[in-house]
Amino acid sequence: MNAVPEGSAAAAAAAARLATFIEAHPRLFVLGGAGISTASGIPDYRDLDGGWKRTPPITLQAFVGDAFARSRYWARSLVGWRRFGAAQPNAAHRALAALERRGRVALFVTQNVDGLHQAAGHEAVVDLHGRLDRVRCLACERRLPRVRFQQELERHNQDWLAFDALDAPDGDADLEGLAFERFVVPDCDECGGLLKPDVVFFGESVPRERVERATLALEEADAMLVVGSSLMVYSGYRFARAAAQARKPIAALNLGRTRADDLLSLKIEADCAAVLGAL
Ligand SMILES: [Zn+2]
Repeated sequence: MNAVPEGSAAAAAAAARLATFIEAHPRLFVLGGAGISTASGIPDYRDLDGGWKRTPPITLQAFVGDAFARSRYWARSLVGWRRFGAAQPNAAHRALAALERRGRVALFVTQNVDGLHQAAGHEAVVDLHGRLDRVRCLACERRLPRVRFQQELERHNQDWLAFDALDAPDGDADLEGLAFERFVVPDCDECGGLLKPDVVFFGESVPRERVERATLALEEADAMLVVGSSLMVYSGYRFARAAAQARKPIAALNLGRTRADDLLSLKIEADCAAVLGAL
């Protein structure tokens, strides 16, 4: 299997196959994943076989129950956010937003937490796994902008600002072997509760209203389109299963294997930005 380079004849051919699927199904339920944002410089978790490329991300249990794990998370996030928070939408985000403007998208459900679809002008988006640009208090449910919390983290941890590391998925950075127990994590200044990024961690369930909104949209859609996701996580895979049970055709544009490969009526193994940019 090989990547389809942007602007190539192969990308144009793949885009034509995808366009045929889109034209045949006027109302699409679209599910997007990390493969859409890699061209914006945000790494993904999975290799071409759908396995982990790296250590699996922090779980809710570790974040809440282990102060060292929590400090390590925020120290790495302090470094990773600087580039994550500055990422810009790419051709794939723009093409999907254009599809919505043409009235072809029943609902767009993203597994990404970067807000880049909204930044590209996409309006009806369900952030299945939340948003990294918000921080939430686990005690009083107050939410605050991440940019403000970043300022707090920087104020308390001046000596950590000199560190840099390679970007990891979800605004994380590969910072290792440091005295994380010395990293200061401010608590909620209203109630003293634990602050957590407003994203769904591993070991945490997706809020029910998001699943319900997505399920309703899928029921009304003619077909499902998966973009840039291996569907290895059940929270996304379940929609492919539901579409298959309802006998709705499913197409996937993804570089590598997906968990739903046996359910697909069209599979395009290619880079999202290259193919969607050629649509
Ligand atoms: Zn609070």
